[in-house]
Amino acid sequence: MSTALVWFRRDLRLADHPALEAALAEHAHVVPVYVHSPDEDGEWRAGAASRWWLHHSLAALDASLRERGSRLVILRGPVLDALAGLARATGARAVRWNRVYDPGGIARDKRVKEALREQGLAVDSTNGSLLFEPWTVKTGAGDPYRVFTPFWRSCQRELGSRPPPRPAPLRLPLPAGAPDGLPLAALELLPRVRWDAGLAAAWQPGEAGAAARLGAFCDAGLADYPEGRDRPARSATSRLSPHLHFGELSPRQALAAASAAAAGTTGAGVAAGVESFLRELGWREFAHHLLFHYPHTLAGPMDARFAALPWRDDASALEAWQRGRTGYPIVDAGMRELWHTGWMHNRVRMIVASLLTKNLGVHWLEGQRWFHDTLVDADLANNALGWQWVAGCGADAAPYYRIFNPMLQTERFDPERAYVRRWVPELARVPDKWIHQPWAAPADVLSRAGVRLGTDYPAPVVEFKASRDRALETFRQLRGDAANPAVERPRKSSTSPMRLRKA
Ligand SMILES: Cc1cc2nc3c(=O)[nH]c(=O)nc-3n(C[C@H](O)[C@H](O)[C@H](O)COP(=O)(O)OP(=O)(O)OC[C@H]3O[C@@H](n4cnc5c(N)ncnc54)[C@H](O)[C@@H]3O)c2cc1C
Repeated sequence: MSTALVWFRRDLRLADHPALEAALAEHAHVVPVYVHSPDEDGEWRAGAASRWWLHHSLAALDASLRERGSRLVILRGPVLDALAGLARATGARAVRWNRVYDPGGIARDKRVKEALREQGLAVDSTNGSLLFEPWTVKTGAGDPYRVFTPFWRSCQRELGSRPPPRPAPLRLPLPAGAPDGLPLAALELLPRVRWDAGLAAAWQPGEAGAAARLGAFCDAGLADYPEGRDRPARSATSRLSPHLHFGELSPRQALAAASAAAAGTTGAGVAAGVESFLRELGWREFAHHLLFHYPHTLAGPMDARFAALPWRDDASALEAWQRGRTGYPIVDAGMRELWHTGWMHNRVRMIVASLLTKNLGVHWLEGQRWFHDTLVDADLANNALGWQWVAGCGADAAPYYRIFNPMLQTERFDPERAYVRRWVPELARVPDKWIHQPWAAPADVLSRAGVRLGTDYPAPVVEFKASRDRALETFRQLRGDAANPAVERPRKSSTSPMRLRKA
């Protein structure tokens, strides 16, 4: 009666779980194991919001396992010692897991795999997190892609051949004498100072929460998605990102559910929504493709010229940005949404990232680190891609001259100002014409709205036009590009934290 260990990481689900399915097919008993080993994640160990999510996701996984006659064995790292010890204790002959694609994870997994094999264990890994393995998508010349559109076109040709998602197993036989492991609480993933009420109100971590959100989005959200996805005040995007990050949902499940919605309707709106949604899943694939092939982009620019950019070391500007007190209402709204819910709308992520890197001149890594700590969907690949895209130094980035104008962005994408009013309530009574630029409002307007600029709400930490011009000049010099760049025009559409928590 053989036994296998299944090591859970970024795949905290039971359905469409290739490693679990393979273990069950080949072994009579399976031991589901989670190893807590933050030291092995180095600089990019899980941030506070991710730890909160992880706690609840592990609890949900354990509950699902118990419904099937099993349970999650939680151990402390180092990973190799934990897995080798558990194999000895249970008599397991095999270890299986689904792959991760960040540089640190790949190096650790390789080391663990080799060492376990040397100890006589059969070790195998599978793809449970991506639609396409990064090494399978290649240009005509056999190279990795660096530009999204041809990458996604190439993926689209193969989408139809993705295997359908597999159901969760009904039973998971645990071997007699499997150790209890640690109680979840021993990992101390939840914050001691309970700042997490907003997260709890906004999310349901775990496989059931993921399935509910995917179902609701595919039932009612797809038709509005192409247009609504750029409106932060509307709940028009799927909000699946943390579920996808923690693998409570596989991209194959998302692909299958969206494709089924398209097949079940004659409405052009839903079909357009599905195409647009799949394209976003394509960006996720692209981010993992890039990080796999260009691991240095986790903390360095893809475009080497940008390593020479003179970033400003401005702690007070950074703190104003982190606290949502820059004086730019849409930026502050986004940073407060992030603080409160652990998530921020994609449009607003771009706006806040542009202000930090272009106008405040603060290194994008500061923003990346802050997002890593505060986002519930903090994802090494997607976060690195997002920051370098906005900063203009990534593979397929926004051109360096794109500097998001927070006022124009508000007019276009928050036309009713509902998003700003929700997250910056101190400005709620300022009329639409001024709420996104309160410094420009006549004194009597502000006074009627009960706002004293600099007291109730900050004056801008940086003057927009002058800082934009400065940034453009710096970028232009760096590129040796004397051409006068275009700047954003009104009509065109384009595409340590604990210190503050305690404060
Ligand atoms: C500066 C910056 C940092 C970002 N950091 C992260 C991060 O740490 N983790 C993260 O998951 N996303 C990140 N993104 C991408 C994007 O903002 C989020 O994925 C999206 O807002 C999640 O909301 P949603 O699930 O409703 O997205 P939807 O619009 O419903 O998209 C569906 C899924 O596609 C994927 N996706 C969507 N947009 C992108 C994108 N631009 N890049 C990669 N994948 C995408 C996500 O998995 C998402 O859940 C970042 C973007 C920027 C500009």
